[in-house]
Amino acid sequence: MEEVLTDIFLIKEKGAWGAYKPTQNIYILVGTGGNDGLIYDAGYGNKKTVKYLVAQINKLRNFFKEKNKEFNLSRLLVSHAHPDHFSGAIKLRKYLGIKIILTEKTARKLSDIKYFSQNFEASNEKVLKKKKSWFKRFKGYFLTQFGHFFFKRVYGLTLIKNPDIIIPENCEILINGEKWKIFPSPGHSSDHISLYNEKKGVLFSGDNVLSSITTWLGPPDSNLEDYISWVKEISNLPNLKLILGAHGSVIKDPRQRLKEILEHREDRTKQIEELVMKNNENGATVTAITKELYPGESRMKHRMAKGYVVLTLRYLEKNQKIYSKIDKKSKIKYFPIRS
Ligand SMILES: [Zn+2]
Repeated sequence: MEEVLTDIFLIKEKGAWGAYKPTQNIYILVGTGGNDGLIYDAGYGNKKTVKYLVAQINKLRNFFKEKNKEFNLSRLLVSHAHPDHFSGAIKLRKYLGIKIILTEKTARKLSDIKYFSQNFEASNEKVLKKKKSWFKRFKGYFLTQFGHFFFKRVYGLTLIKNPDIIIPENCEILINGEKWKIFPSPGHSSDHISLYNEKKGVLFSGDNVLSSITTWLGPPDSNLEDYISWVKEISNLPNLKLILGAHGSVIKDPRQRLKEILEHREDRTKQIEELVMKNNENGATVTAITKELYPGESRMKHRMAKGYVVLTLRYLEKNQKIYSKIDKKSKIKYFPIRS
């Protein structure tokens, strides 16, 4: 546990298997006054992990007690409907007696496995229109079932069917008298929100801005253009001093980091466009572009990066730099548009 700023504590939940289960940052916002604190993000839902988090919170409680200061957590706010951010919520409510706060969008996604799954069923509309073979349909069904099993076992996935408080995406929240702004931050996921305190200059960015890696973006729920405009919007936040992300370390030079993210996205877009130009005769597939863009990387890295490549290709297509065709094997191929 670490006090990253006065009355803001960071508890790290250990992950496993590298990027398959990343280490998760859980923030405790005590605020001055101490009886109405907030937890930002619920982390994993595995029993052991939740117990660890509760033990850390009890340590914090004792720390405040020794100082004769009041300490009470009353609420938990979830940044977005990804399993590493909400799965611990139900157990934490039970152990700590807190109320779960969700936005309308996140609440809908977490109300039913059907809505939740829709956010992960990456598909391409063009290919979907074509009739799928029984093998492809079976493969899709198998992958969905395997996904549920994986997240249940490894992340402790637990949906939140009965949240206590539903808030709009744009609102203010009081934490022991301190005003914090909640605002929509689509990009990484459509329901993502951020939390900002202008006086302190502190932004909780969830998965949208991370210290050392670029966030995952991919269909069907991420939006590249929304993401870029959000990063630009954040760069202009008055008094921004510190970004606290859901993974990695504290970002002490936020404007520099945001600039790096924008430059990285611009470079990647250029590289992807160049790769389409290079393979102009036979067309370039998403897989081929991903492999060329990340040479020598593992299959897992390629699988994770594909989503971003797809979004960038769609962006280039929308801006009439490239066009796509579906070949006989239902593969989408991208070609340059000659001016
Ligand atoms: Zn996420």
